[in-house]
Amino acid sequence: MLRPNMFYGELKDSYLFYNIAQKTKKYLEENEGTHLYRMGIGDVSLPLCDAVIKALHEAAEDQADKSKFNGYMPECGAPFLRNAIAEHYRARGVQLADDEVFVSSGASDELGDILDLFDRENSSLIIEPAYPAYVDANIMGGRKIVHLPSGRENGFLPLPDDSTKADLIYICSPNNPTGAVFSKEQLKAWVDFANRNGSVILFDAAYEAFIEDEDLPRSIFEIDGARTCAIEICSLSKTAGFTGTRLGYTVIPHDLERLCMNFNRMWVRNRTTKTNGVSYIIQKGGSAVFTPEGQKQIRENIAVYKNNAKVLMKALDKLGIWYTGGKNAPYIWMECPDKMGSWDFFDLLLHKAQIVGTPGEGFGKCGEGYFRFSTFGSPEDTEEAAARLLKLLG
Ligand code: PLP
Repeated sequence: MLRPNMFYGELKDSYLFYNIAQKTKKYLEENEGTHLYRMGIGDVSLPLCDAVIKALHEAAEDQADKSKFNGYMPECGAPFLRNAIAEHYRARGVQLADDEVFVSSGASDELGDILDLFDRENSSLIIEPAYPAYVDANIMGGRKIVHLPSGRENGFLPLPDDSTKADLIYICSPNNPTGAVFSKEQLKAWVDFANRNGSVILFDAAYEAFIEDEDLPRSIFEIDGARTCAIEICSLSKTAGFTGTRLGYTVIPHDLERLCMNFNRMWVRNRTTKTNGVSYIIQKGGSAVFTPEGQKQIRENIAVYKNNAKVLMKALDKLGIWYTGGKNAPYIWMECPDKMGSWDFFDLLLHKAQIVGTPGEGFGKCGEGYFRFSTFGSPEDTEEAAARLLKLLG
């Protein structure tokens, strides 16, 4: 008899964004016409930059021209884009070969698909609070999850100790939801742990472009020893506004091997079997991000979000509220005042200040008592939200 993947029955309903939507809808029904200050969104609000738009148009024209037309693209990525991404790393001092870079349709796809490379008996360590997809992808795969809670005492940046045991280790830095960023020394502790134990780190670098402190690592491959224990998964979604255009990349070093199996070669085999490559047009658009002009223009957009972060941080500083993130990440993770629960604080902000944020409890139990603000909204709304926070909590 056909058996479905019964592990799907173990998934918890994803109530976080549903609950937020329900509460917000009810409030708007009762208070028709009220403007809400949406500080919860994880999507970008600025359009693609000019360099990308120009490249997308040119690529569309290529597809209309018999002499330039492209059919199926190479499954692991167009050589021009793999080279542009590898060059981008090399310019920052991280030596990568072009064929260690795999072009993808985004980080979400890869975070799920990459699990194909690992035995189901492997356990996965997830630092919490966490991006919910890590937990769900592992439940679907029937893997044992080792939850590693973090908190204010370690700045939401926990390190392994003698009791830590895991085969796969998820590290997201800058982190969603906490905005916390691991230092080189802290990442080195995880890399050494992984090499000692034969574990593999899945490093989610979706927010690397928001790091402004020069001494913080933007790639796990800035850390000695990472080439034998890490895979990096990255995305142009937040870096360059590709949330709706879809493009990302994954780095798998040639040196990453276990039991005589080479993960780079395995991923080539996987991609050539399970995908037919990312669209030529989108890859052309993506390659414009890595040109000097593209880099300058995406920096201008990121600066808008960073300014939003500054406005919110200034308000929280004035209020004496503890938080992480903001400076090197597009998220700010604040402690709820007066030991309030995160859903109570959500209700308070919605009803008394018309601000919508994200309750920390939705990212794992240890997120209770914390609240996430996103900085991807409009500058006008962010200014007003900050003023309202000051009035309500001051
Ligand atoms: N990883 C983290 C930590 C994220 O927050 C997100 C999106 O919000 C993703 C990955 C997914 O990125 P993509 O849009 O490339 O699928």
